[in-house]
Amino acid sequence: MGLIVQKYGGSSVANTARLRAVAERVVRTRREGHQVVVVVSAQGDTTDELIRKAHELTPNPPRREMDMLLATGEQASIALLAIAIDCLGEPVVSLTGGQGGIYTDNVHTKARITRVRGDRILRELAAGKIVIVAGFQGITVEGEDYEITTLGRGGSDTTAVALAAALKADMCEIYTDVTGVFTADPRIVPQARKIPVISYGEMLEMASLGAVVLQPRSVEFGAVYNVPIHVRSSFSDEPGTIVKELTLMNGNGNGTETGEKEVLVTGVTHDTNVAKVVLVSVPDRPGVAARIFGALAAERINVDMIVQTTKAEQETDLLFTISRDDLPRASEVVRRVARELGAKDVLEDQTVAKVSIVGAGMVMNPGVAAAMFQALADCGINIQVISTSEIKVSCLIDESRVVEAVRAIHRRFLEENAPGPVRAAATGAAATTAAAAPGSARATASTAASSMATPTAAAGSTSADPQPGATGSAAGTW
Ligand code: ASP
Ligand code: MG
Repeated sequence: MGLIVQKYGGSSVANTARLRAVAERVVRTRREGHQVVVVVSAQGDTTDELIRKAHELTPNPPRREMDMLLATGEQASIALLAIAIDCLGEPVVSLTGGQGGIYTDNVHTKARITRVRGDRILRELAAGKIVIVAGFQGITVEGEDYEITTLGRGGSDTTAVALAAALKADMCEIYTDVTGVFTADPRIVPQARKIPVISYGEMLEMASLGAVVLQPRSVEFGAVYNVPIHVRSSFSDEPGTIVKELTLMNGNGNGTETGEKEVLVTGVTHDTNVAKVVLVSVPDRPGVAARIFGALAAERINVDMIVQTTKAEQETDLLFTISRDDLPRASEVVRRVARELGAKDVLEDQTVAKVSIVGAGMVMNPGVAAAMFQALADCGINIQVISTSEIKVSCLIDESRVVEAVRAIHRRFLEENAPGPVRAAATGAAATTAAAAPGSARATASTAASSMATPTAAAGSTSADPQPGATGSAAGTW
């Protein structure tokens, strides 16, 4: 008998039939002798619907009120699931995030969990109950105002893993509408395969780079507290993908549990929720980058790729990427700072996308990046910006080419007829991979933050490929 945390996403509890199916699975797990804590998301598209309603009133609603509004989605689903479980005759109690002991900071709509108090949940479990906790929400304790907060889109994953860590659960199961984590989004790459086992470090990169099957923060929690996470489908009993601690020597996430890592690339991800901003001709002196990125950080805007190029004496261009959703706010901030600094211009581009390869095996193998660039070159796809870490290489490209790019890269590294190990493919261009820090092969949560950018094409230039390709799909839910 163990303690299992099960998290069900919005599609898994979308309607009465689905709620009943989830209730049955939960009850089955309980009757197998486990203690069960269930975390649920809002039903179906509820969160999107609530956001849409607020945006009908104003494009910029107060964030505190957004939290008040969005938290209702999960509050409805916990009660409905509790009712469905009660119908099956099993003792059950539903708890809001606050009642479940999820304490956060006070940054509305992007709050971070600061502490989890498990005593209430443990008490209910000890009384023999199934405990259902609202995902995605928490409460502030500071000043005893008990403000309701939310953890950012997809935050229920983080609630589940944080609870699993605090309660020392044996497993955290994340139930979704796909059967696991794939080597690429199967909706655009039919040859994509399910990855049976993946390391926290690789999963964190995959999640951060566009595989929205898990909120990246939940993977960080898993890594720090060593909580095994099983991503699987609530629509079947098929085993999914296990996310756990892996070293280079004990597995490669692709089926071999022992032996030296042979698979260099574990997955290909893409993200079309990307915008590029360029500050043209800012003064080249100490403190400038700190000013710009400090102002963005103060607004909690996450910056991804950053490239600074020296173009003329005492002048540089600064390019960075952010999520497209953040562009309106970032634009305001950057234009203000640009004016203060005397920059010549600010350019914005929302027609870019990022394709990435992730794999713990690439750290020891030169030529992986070169092989990726070659796959893009063979399609005539221009690379605007490159960034690397120990276990990933990302390229910013034109959004219209993203499907083609993902397919070509998947074919190069992950399909039957792939040309094989890339060691032989190392060419002069492999020197670029020197940008990847040669540090420890064991990826940690910090790798995402340590990525560096390497300029390629002139910063700020738009893609030279006007070819109208397939339109990029949104970042996949896979
Ligand atoms: N309901 C929230 C969202 O749609 C949280 C979640 O589903 O994890 O983002
Ligand atoms: Mg989700």
